Amino acid sequence: MLKTNQWSYWERKEILEEIDLVIVGAGIVGYSTALAFQENNPTAKILVIERGLLPSGASTKNAGFACFGSASEIYDDIQSFGEETVWKTVELRWKGLQALRNRIGDKGLKLHMNGSWDLFTESEMDTFEAVSPQITYYNERLEEITGERNVFSIDSDVQQQFGFNHIETSIYNRLEGQIDTGSMMTRFHQLVVSKGIHVLFGCEVDSIHEKENGAVLHTHLGSIESKKVAVCTNGFARQLLKEDVEPARAQVLITKPIEGLKINGTFHYQKGYFYFRNIDNRILFGGGRNLAFEEETTSTIATSERIMYALHEILSEVILPQTAYEVDHSWAGIMGVGSVKKPIIKHISPSVYCGIRLGGMGVAIGSLVGEELAKMISTNEE
Ligand SMILES: Cc1cc2nc3c(=O)[nH]c(=O)nc-3n(C[C@H](O)[C@H](O)[C@H](O)COP(=O)(O)OP(=O)(O)OC[C@H]3O[C@@H](n4cnc5c(N)ncnc54)[C@H](O)[C@@H]3O)c2cc1C
Repeated sequence: MLKTNQWSYWERKEILEEIDLVIVGAGIVGYSTALAFQENNPTAKILVIERGLLPSGASTKNAGFACFGSASEIYDDIQSFGEETVWKTVELRWKGLQALRNRIGDKGLKLHMNGSWDLFTESEMDTFEAVSPQITYYNERLEEITGERNVFSIDSDVQQQFGFNHIETSIYNRLEGQIDTGSMMTRFHQLVVSKGIHVLFGCEVDSIHEKENGAVLHTHLGSIESKKVAVCTNGFARQLLKEDVEPARAQVLITKPIEGLKINGTFHYQKGYFYFRNIDNRILFGGGRNLAFEEETTSTIATSERIMYALHEILSEVILPQTAYEVDHSWAGIMGVGSVKKPIIKHISPSVYCGIRLGGMGVAIGSLVGEELAKMISTNEE
């Protein structure tokens, strides 16, 4: 690959000179930051730098759940983090989803609002018994946030309706849905390019240093200078910054198309550690990080035998017990997690900012994180 000092006068002038903002990472957050910054600063020169030939973290690899919290997750989180923190997070996710819908459009997202089910097995009935009396209260809190009544309801027919095995009951959330992740990211890219924002793929940033009136980024292709830098590298942020964020690998498989597939919606299984949905008459199924937390605290983008074995087992025993199917493909992506379930949106040094640690909810909150980060950069906020 040619280094930047081998580029032509035209290439250097068009892409590298007098940059106002370099964004590192072409994921949901990087692209949202670019678009929001451009809206606040229409004449700004913006460059997005991405190390992969495609975005190579989580944004093109996720399961495409448009979700803001299952009843059992809300219940668990209230025990760990307290009421107000949890409802604030739920509100952020809800508003984030609306921001994403405004930005990309429901058609661009291929959004289907067919609801989600929080599934409970026989051994999880204690949890169900603890969560179900809270539903009326949760619905009141959710009405304040969404303006919609009776968001959660108990659905005990779920096993019969979809042909599952070992599922005793479920709690249905009628306001969650599913998107086509590939379509969302293609639309993000098209929007960014249509606004005159340059994107350089295949360019890894090794380090960032402050200089007078800006920063210099040392990349595999050479040095790039910019007045401001936004680091949006999520699970990989520790390569460039000393922040409380660790990589968390998540693995997914997809079946070949299944004739007459009845499953339609998004499903959380075992407290959300496993999740599955239908897409194009297939089942996309992921999760299992809880089986090997240490092994999965890695930025290596690869599947593991242990997790894949667990996914295959649950798929055949619980999700598709009476259906012939074949697994078509599997992959992994890297999330960014930390000691709290909250993104870091921060002014790090005079010219450097970050929007990282999106956890497993970046589809929901990524757009708002980008908007907030762009505002912080535009106004030089601390
Ligand atoms: C398998 C899986 C399933 C998921 N399912 C869901 C879901 O259903 N719903 C939901 O809301 N969320 C889900 N998530 C989480 C969600 O995808 C993420 O929170 C979100 O995509 C994070 O976006 P981001 O822009 O912060 O990070 P990323 O998409 O990871 O973008 C960061 C980018 O930075 C690039 N980069 C890193 N280091 C450098 C460097 N040094 N130089 C240049 N570029 C660099 C990376 O290649 C990457 O493209 C899932 C994640 C995974 C992995």
